[in-house]
Amino acid sequence: MFKKILIANRGEIAARILRACREMGIEAVTVYSTADADSLHVLFAEQSVCIGPPRAGDSYLNMDAILTVAKATGCDAIHPGYGFLSENDAFADACRDAGIAFIGPSGDVIRKMGNKSAARALMQSVGVPVVPGSDGLVRDEDEAVKVGERIGYPVLIKAAAGGGGRGMRRVYEPSEMRDLFREAMAESVACFGSDEMYIEKLILNPRHIEFQILADKYGNVIQLGERDCSVQRKNQKLLEETPSHALTPDLRKRMGDAAVRAAKAAGYENAGTIEFVLAPNKEFYFIEMNTRIQVEHPVTEMVTSMDLVREQIRIAAGLKLSRTQEEVELRGHAIECRINAENPAKEFAPCPGKADFLYFPGGPGVRIDTCMYNGYEIPPFYDSMVGKIIVWAPTRLEAIRRMRRCLEELTIDGVQTNAELMHQILYHPVFVRGNYTTAFLEEHLPTMLEWMARIEESEA
Ligand code: ADP
Repeated sequence: MFKKILIANRGEIAARILRACREMGIEAVTVYSTADADSLHVLFAEQSVCIGPPRAGDSYLNMDAILTVAKATGCDAIHPGYGFLSENDAFADACRDAGIAFIGPSGDVIRKMGNKSAARALMQSVGVPVVPGSDGLVRDEDEAVKVGERIGYPVLIKAAAGGGGRGMRRVYEPSEMRDLFREAMAESVACFGSDEMYIEKLILNPRHIEFQILADKYGNVIQLGERDCSVQRKNQKLLEETPSHALTPDLRKRMGDAAVRAAKAAGYENAGTIEFVLAPNKEFYFIEMNTRIQVEHPVTEMVTSMDLVREQIRIAAGLKLSRTQEEVELRGHAIECRINAENPAKEFAPCPGKADFLYFPGGPGVRIDTCMYNGYEIPPFYDSMVGKIIVWAPTRLEAIRRMRRCLEELTIDGVQTNAELMHQILYHPVFVRGNYTTAFLEEHLPTMLEWMARIEESEA
């Protein structure tokens, strides 16, 4: 087992990894930017090293600085968390070359799955269904127009290097294709430095269903059930739950098998996620693989009683999976709400600031993963997600009631968050019935915002 792990991340996930290390008796070193000197992952860690100024490119994305700290502090492994360097193939390679274990898949596998268009082709070759679309990349507007004619509108333009919903455009009419293709490509170049685009048929009113998988160095691959991440804003997840109301045991088995097949085809190792869209007619299609631990991993931990970060560390250290597929038991229901410092009424604009007073919910079946504490000042340089509330209960309805109760207990003074909106969602009849799609939030946001405004008025 590793002796000392460097955590190359910040925020709640750095604290999460630190907890796993501590429980496993492994020493940990965290790194931080000057904007994060007072952050939880610095205060919690036995050893923490400043790696640069606030801009991520100068700190959390600075591979040389991170590797230098890892070597100087005697770390034998690096956990990248999510975001930042977690899906950076060059960083995985650099760790390997420095003789330090990268807690994740190899650089080769990250490369293979990181190009979403190439990943699609690989999945097709092993019989995992993909959304009908362009065969390979679409170079320019003219080709985009032709692909649109061939597969039929509406379509979705995507960036092969994309993530976080960026570089994507929905196209409903042929006449919009040229402009939107240019826009999407420009966004991809700006965000990812890549002009590689592809096109998929836009599935109307789908659900986003993803499967957690674990794979060790010995070819063993298991899946830990699904997460329904259909509550999204701007193609980004806000709330996740497991199990999904949309899946029957038979469909779960077929999708789970496809996820395992996908991971095996990729030669995958460590924890990963196979993402699908599920059409209203129950056809499912692979959209991409995430080669890292995900924000929403705790809902899977709640229903499996497994610690996924611990599993990641064990796998990277060369241990076999701690459970076989038959030993994986999915119990009860779990929901996660992401708490973002943002204003839902202003197009979810980030609202960094100082949390003057905080009170987090507790009680049975409640887990809080956050980087906030009383007096914490959220820096403006990074992601607006500052915490997650995760609940577990025997049934979905009990989990919903528990989450409502948690959101009512939650107090964050001084910072605008999306907690009120979450509360509205937890009461929305479409959500409560469980048959919501990725269109749910966009469609019902105006009404929910109106209700929130009325509540605020009546309380004033
Ligand atoms: P990113 O990597 O930017 O998150 P994804 O490919 O994972 O992009 O897609 C993000 C979201 O966009 C999905 O969760 C889903 O809601 C929606 N989406 C992706 N592909 C399709 C599709 N072909 N049809 C309809 N919705 C889609």
